[in-house]
Amino acid sequence: MTVKRKVVRSSVMGFCMGVKAVMSKVDQQLEIKNNSDLYTYGPLIHNPQVIDKLRLQGVKSIESPLEADGGTIIIRAHGIHPEDRKEFVDKGYEIVEGTCPRVLKSQKTVSRYSQEGWFIVVVGDKGHGEVKAIVGCANDYVVILSKSDAEKLNLPEKALVIAQTTLSKVEYDSICGILLRKNPSVKIIKSICPATRLRQGSLKKLTNEVDAIIAIGGRNSANTKRLYLSALKSGIPAWHVEDVDELPEEIFDFKTIGITAGASTPDWLIDRIEKALKEDK
Ligand code: SF4
Repeated sequence: MTVKRKVVRSSVMGFCMGVKAVMSKVDQQLEIKNNSDLYTYGPLIHNPQVIDKLRLQGVKSIESPLEADGGTIIIRAHGIHPEDRKEFVDKGYEIVEGTCPRVLKSQKTVSRYSQEGWFIVVVGDKGHGEVKAIVGCANDYVVILSKSDAEKLNLPEKALVIAQTTLSKVEYDSICGILLRKNPSVKIIKSICPATRLRQGSLKKLTNEVDAIIAIGGRNSANTKRLYLSALKSGIPAWHVEDVDELPEEIFDFKTIGITAGASTPDWLIDRIEKALKEDK
């Protein structure tokens, strides 16, 4: 028996502003350069299908200027440590700025306060590219991630706290609460990007309208994983898929299916999965 299926898209999903901007810069460069000597500084986004497509188009990911003989390097939305940027410039690479304006703003804030002698507390994952780009602008700093890290911290008089843009606001607020209790004069910067919150908010509404959820995005995309977990938490069946071949058989038994996608999932992948879900089975 064929089930007539309805697929409902989350009202906010897919590429965020920063990713959209850097992806369009890649397209522009591909048109100008026809892919000769075109590089990205590390994998551009957390999506294996996009990375594969770029590789097929001849765009290579490198992390050091020594990995190639010069050319054009596109900085990803996460940004780049200033010393790494300088190395690329010194080796003669042409830089295409893809750093998200929100990350650039965090870098500028940290630079300015560091020059005035402030101690910088970055709340985030120290292995994340954005955090590396931000601490590269600080003189004296620490990176913390948890409330217990915050409890252990000894803060000097002039301390500035800033978050990785993709951190959860609830987590950041609770960490800032601890730091403020220790040092009431600590300066808190509201650097969290609304992209994650908006995607989570629209997913919450969607879970009330559908029977099951498909969260689309790379397994290495933390925000897609969080969307998937939120859908599961809402009590309806949910799956995290990267592409059509991962759609589970059971999904085709539901009449109304909701789809959401992380901030690094391209439209073409969302469209492909939507089409597959609507096909007769
Ligand atoms: S999540 Fe926000 S800060 Fe990060 S790249 Fe996207 S728009 Fe920029």
